[in-house]
Amino acid sequence: MNAPIVAVTMGLGSDRPRFRIGQAYVSALEHAGALAIPLPHTPFTIERAETLIETMDGLLLAGGTDVDPVWYGEEPHGRHKPFDPDRDAFELALCRTARSRDLPILAICRGIQVLNVATGGTLYQDVSEQPAPALLHEQTAPRWHPTHDVAVVPGTALAEILGVESCRVNSFHHQTVREIAAGFVCSAKASDGTIEAIEDPRARFTIGVQWHPEDLVQRSPFWTGLFEAFTAACGVARRPAG
Ligand code: MN
Repeated sequence: MNAPIVAVTMGLGSDRPRFRIGQAYVSALEHAGALAIPLPHTPFTIERAETLIETMDGLLLAGGTDVDPVWYGEEPHGRHKPFDPDRDAFELALCRTARSRDLPILAICRGIQVLNVATGGTLYQDVSEQPAPALLHEQTAPRWHPTHDVAVVPGTALAEILGVESCRVNSFHHQTVREIAAGFVCSAKASDGTIEAIEDPRARFTIGVQWHPEDLVQRSPFWTGLFEAFTAACGVARRPAG
């Protein structure tokens, strides 16, 4: 069986030099029938991002640390998690190349922020900078436990995949999408106005979510649909034209 090959981006270990990947991403993709391939970020791979993505059928931009605001034209203010400049450069390059080839992209947590910044959008450096008082977006409850609602925007690809008007999600972010990139639409919002999902309606499959569906799917089969839809789109992308 030909499983679509999905590139999954990685983080850095905090204790000593190591790359790491959340098992939940791999597990969620494998259950949906995709082969997850972790891609480390180094100056060497940054230079070869275009070549690397050509060998893939889809891109999963994983969660992780904050994006350096220099990428959307701001100085850092407030609190920040440590920047990972190589990861920023690598993911932005992967994302732009994937988009130029209309490869399916599923962007999760930090991933939605990378996707938005790569395509010209901006971020709130902290949820407290939003106009309305923010909900709790950095939950301390277990990762599989959803803690706030999102309203899913009718008519979007996300609404079609999930088949609901609202759902409850987990939340592990302190930054969030501010101005949505041109051509993208909001596909889910929290009650405090936080943009929780975006998508490109013209793309084959380009969806970013601010929550972590890979951690929800272990307890809630409802979330398998998102990974299956992504994998199906990757399978179509893989098929040679004509
Ligand atoms: Mn949230």
